[in-house]
Amino acid sequence: MVEQWGIRVPSKSGEEVRKSLMGEGILDLSLKVIRDGSTLVLPVTEQREGAERCSFELRAGRPVLPRHELVGGIAIMQENDPAGAEQILATIASLHTVLCPASDVMGEYRTRKFEVLAGIPTTRTEILEYGHRFVIDLASAYFSSRLSSERQRILGKVGDRELILDMFAGVGPFAITLAKRAALVIACDINPRAVILMQENLGKNRVKNVLPVLADAHHLPGTLLLKFDRIIMNLPLSGTAFLADAFRLCKSGGIIHFYSLVAQEGQHRDDLDDMGGEVIDERVVRSYSPGQWHVVYDVKVATR
Ligand code: SAM
Repeated sequence: MVEQWGIRVPSKSGEEVRKSLMGEGILDLSLKVIRDGSTLVLPVTEQREGAERCSFELRAGRPVLPRHELVGGIAIMQENDPAGAEQILATIASLHTVLCPASDVMGEYRTRKFEVLAGIPTTRTEILEYGHRFVIDLASAYFSSRLSSERQRILGKVGDRELILDMFAGVGPFAITLAKRAALVIACDINPRAVILMQENLGKNRVKNVLPVLADAHHLPGTLLLKFDRIIMNLPLSGTAFLADAFRLCKSGGIIHFYSLVAQEGQHRDDLDDMGGEVIDERVVRSYSPGQWHVVYDVKVATR
């Protein structure tokens, strides 16, 4: 038996959650799923909200592969290990490419460079997330599967026919997920390649109520004549610089979902309070690095 993190789900949603965790690259394929009455416990390689420590049985005959993360048809290794890359490619049938980062995530577009270790030389792939297909290009526009359950959490909060703004939309995963309940989503990004991929993703998912906008989000308050029921601000490193814009764009009583990297709980509460926001929830989305957490504040904008 092996100790690992496990996520407990009702058996009837086990397959959907399994696929999603697989897409995020955190399902631990070397371990067997635990069946416990009407629930399943799925083994995962990182601690998630609600995850519990469990003892799992090892899967017989499963080769132990070098550490990697799966993003659609691409495996990303942390080490530059061409032999390990070939082994991963030969073992996982759905893969077409194995990459290794050749830079940190950098710049305004939050992208990184990659070296191709095995397979087809591309950084483009397609992922499936809760029934949506997203074309992504890891080298030209930001994308992270790690926020897939967070997108579902926000979807659960959206009321009928809301007007939503995604200020830093990337290739559109939040916008396309929330479009299901919204009247209209305006999805802005400053990276032209992200906006082109977003347009492709709108077509692929037959979504007609998302309007992609290529712009610097600082220009939105002076350009858009609308006020929004809900605003998504997923720019964790520098989102604070855009909070005043978000407050200008939000309706009284509307909600801002503000993502940030913090070193301690409550770090932004005073600033949000000073701006006229009431923090109705603050939660850790994931740990980012030792001593730093990616958190989200759900903020209700005061009636003005
Ligand atoms: N929301 C997307 C997601 O979850 O995949 C993307 C989030 S990514 C962390 C931040 C995005 O903000 C990047 O796509 C980047 O190009 C965009 N960005 C950075 N500065 C911006 C600005 N001033 N105005 C609009 N978009 C910006």
